[in-house]
Amino acid sequence: MKIAMFNTRRYDREFFSAANAKHSSHELIYLEPHLDATTAALAAGIPAACIFVNDDANAEALRILAANGTKYLLHRCAGFNQTDLKAAAELGIRVARVPAYSPYSVAEHAVGLVLMLNRKLYKAYNRVRDDNFALDGLMGFDLHGRTVGVIGTGKIGMLFAQIMHGFGCQLLGYDAYPNLAFEAIGAARYVELPELFENCDIISLHCPLLPATERMIDTNAIAQMKQGVMLINTSRGKLIDTKAAIEGIKSGRIGYLGIDVYEQEDNLFFEDLSATVIQDDVFQLLQSYPNVVITAHQAFFTQDALSAIAETTLANANCFEQGQDCANELKYEEKVVTRAPA
Ligand code: NAD
Repeated sequence: MKIAMFNTRRYDREFFSAANAKHSSHELIYLEPHLDATTAALAAGIPAACIFVNDDANAEALRILAANGTKYLLHRCAGFNQTDLKAAAELGIRVARVPAYSPYSVAEHAVGLVLMLNRKLYKAYNRVRDDNFALDGLMGFDLHGRTVGVIGTGKIGMLFAQIMHGFGCQLLGYDAYPNLAFEAIGAARYVELPELFENCDIISLHCPLLPATERMIDTNAIAQMKQGVMLINTSRGKLIDTKAAIEGIKSGRIGYLGIDVYEQEDNLFFEDLSATVIQDDVFQLLQSYPNVVITAHQAFFTQDALSAIAETTLANANCFEQGQDCANELKYEEKVVTRAPA
């Protein structure tokens, strides 16, 4: 089957072509533009379209796809908030996603942010390249014996907790749906959020973005945290009220901030804007602080995750092409489920 692969980069082409050669025989048509209403016609006559987190499958884009013969929409990601599932259902477009790929990729990146901030590796690297071998300003703290808060103890949160346990940390967890395996890690227990905020040296967010979790880290939450807390977010940008975080950094309440996701990242991430004047003043302010490390939604970006994403996406395409049920199909009703859209 022909698949219009919107918004592809070199690495997408590499991993999708390899997976297709191994497991399928689809005709992959690689396109650079993002999907939206102005580009949807590029898929004219092509039965399937494949999109990523920063495409925009709104009702108008879907209408254009359907009018031009596209019947299937394949997400090469877990999240699906970029797609109007109601419109897709009305237009008879079947939609699938990749619900899980490598949770290790994200958990390990979160740990990377912890180490980078604590031991100031981002500064040390530049200093040594500059023949500056002084240690002033690079002091960190032992992770051993520190208390780490894990908010959301699902696939990624559990792995993050296990790695931090390996460092000898105490673990406090919070989850709307507690999971017995978390407390079995050892030195781990569930608490309510105020107790977690009050007692943790490091807090890492691993819950999904839902109405209940949007801006859960706000002025009030930050005020309850330990002075100098390290806050890590590899989950979704909107879990943190960025302006409140900036106030927290300025007051010293937040001693370190490591983020792989940002509230307004759709206007920035995945593009080379190095020759552009960034118009987002909040982002620029955040970048200016010495105790903030930002990566651009790269936590998932490992060979293993990209292979898994390509293989599952093409398996979803096989199911649709053969008119079979697809375990990863997204039905409109699923959007009202409150649990865990990753
Ligand atoms: P998961 O579904 O396995 O785990 C999410 C956990 O959050 C579950 O245990 C769930 O019960 C819990 N939860 C739900 N509502 C909650 C609430 N109100 N408060 C606290 N916890 C709540 O998902 P996962 O695979 O571990 O992914 C976690 C998050 O990581 C995703 O939601 C996604 O936003 C993010 N993610 C980021 C990247 C990246 O590249 N940065 C890649 C993949 C996933």
